[in-house]
Amino acid sequence: MQFNDVKNTEQNKEEKAVSATYSRTNPFLAEVLETLNLNRPGSNKETRHIELSLKDSNLSYVPGDCLGIFPENDPEYVATLVEEMKWDAHESVTINKKDDKLPLQEALTTYFEITLLTKKILQQAAQLTENEEIQNLVLPENKDQLKEYMEGRDLLDLLRDFGPWKGSAQEIVSLLRKMPPRLYSIASSLTATPDEVHLTIGAVRYEAHGRERKGVCSVQCAERLDQGDTIPVFIQQNKHFFLPDSTDTKIIMVGPGTGIAPFRSFIQERAVNGGTGESWLFFGDQYSATDFLYEDELEKYQKDGVLTKLSTAFSRDSEKKVYVQHKMLENSKELFAWLEDGAYFYVCGDKQYMAKDVHNTLIDIIEKEGGMSREAAEEYLTEMQKQKRYQRDVY
Ligand SMILES: Cc1cc2nc3c(=O)[nH]c(=O)nc-3n(C[C@H](O)[C@H](O)[C@H](O)COP(=O)(O)OP(=O)(O)OC[C@H]3O[C@@H](n4cnc5c(N)ncnc54)[C@H](O)[C@@H]3O)c2cc1C
Repeated sequence: MQFNDVKNTEQNKEEKAVSATYSRTNPFLAEVLETLNLNRPGSNKETRHIELSLKDSNLSYVPGDCLGIFPENDPEYVATLVEEMKWDAHESVTINKKDDKLPLQEALTTYFEITLLTKKILQQAAQLTENEEIQNLVLPENKDQLKEYMEGRDLLDLLRDFGPWKGSAQEIVSLLRKMPPRLYSIASSLTATPDEVHLTIGAVRYEAHGRERKGVCSVQCAERLDQGDTIPVFIQQNKHFFLPDSTDTKIIMVGPGTGIAPFRSFIQERAVNGGTGESWLFFGDQYSATDFLYEDELEKYQKDGVLTKLSTAFSRDSEKKVYVQHKMLENSKELFAWLEDGAYFYVCGDKQYMAKDVHNTLIDIIEKEGGMSREAAEEYLTEMQKQKRYQRDVY
């Protein structure tokens, strides 16, 4: 892999730039063609495979790009808010500086972010109540307590905790931010499935402060998005995550859990484009019986020779937890040989733990198999990064 190849790759990425009238500011309403749970019964997780139609949108993407979704809030949660505050669901409220108006219930469902608190929201909310607790919480000297309060709490908690409120529904919604879109790594190749975009979405569900909480977008996709429904989307190009220009270049992909999404796109693209480049996927999750996402497809790709190697790590199948980085170490000699052979190395998925562990393990492997000092191994990886041969899409 030479410098010129890198330049070409970048150029190509630019040339493939999307020209469409639909964008983040003018999202396309994509129809749901298919939605299925990739986890089997008994799993602790729910990972949705969602296929959307891009027909007549003029939108296009390349492997590595993301899809942005503008979600809606849970209508049950909105109804609880309206009911507890004794608001009039049909009251017209101003939603932005342009003075656009929506009925309250619709504004809370489609326009505002109501599941996340910020310092600004609490500070301004304190002016709409005489509750002493919130007055104390927003004092500059109590910033640590304020931060702790905001963690895992939402608008309903705030309104329940610090009443009685003297502010009107309009005054309360004026505190809120516009709902930001959520990004998802595209799990399909446009070449393989024209007019379609596929996603792999893990439903976020957890308990905090005695109440079940649901991720806005992921749970909407899991619970309230059916075949035939539409959802506002846009393409978000990712200039930092892309296949090598040459289909003869080897690729190593580390994508546990939903991190597998862009690699399904990579593999689909390679299946169509051919080439001699070998590919190696490291996948992991909790249990092989229930959480082996896209198992059948991956097996088929392996049989067909599109996917050369598949290394899996199911952390809860054995007493000792096994993760993708352990599988990398087990295969360290071969992995280093692939790197020496010019392979691109990709990581996608959890930023907090997985990506760090994989990064450190990669340095361990280069150090050990390359017979290098720690510094030289780190330099080797930095060089790979400069050549765009070490790419990460982590969140
Ligand atoms: C570039 C990029 C690519 C991505 N690709 C994918 C993908 O392919 N598949 C995918 O599933 N996701 C992907 N994501 C993540 C995705 O964008 C969303 O962040 C995710 O789906 C959660 O959104 P939500 O609206 O469901 O949850 P939100 O309503 O945004 O809630 C999530 C928030 O809840 C809180 N939270 C979550 N769990 C807990 C807990 N256990 N305890 C306390 N608080 C908690 C955290 O503050 C977290 O930020 C990607 C993100 C980025 C930036």
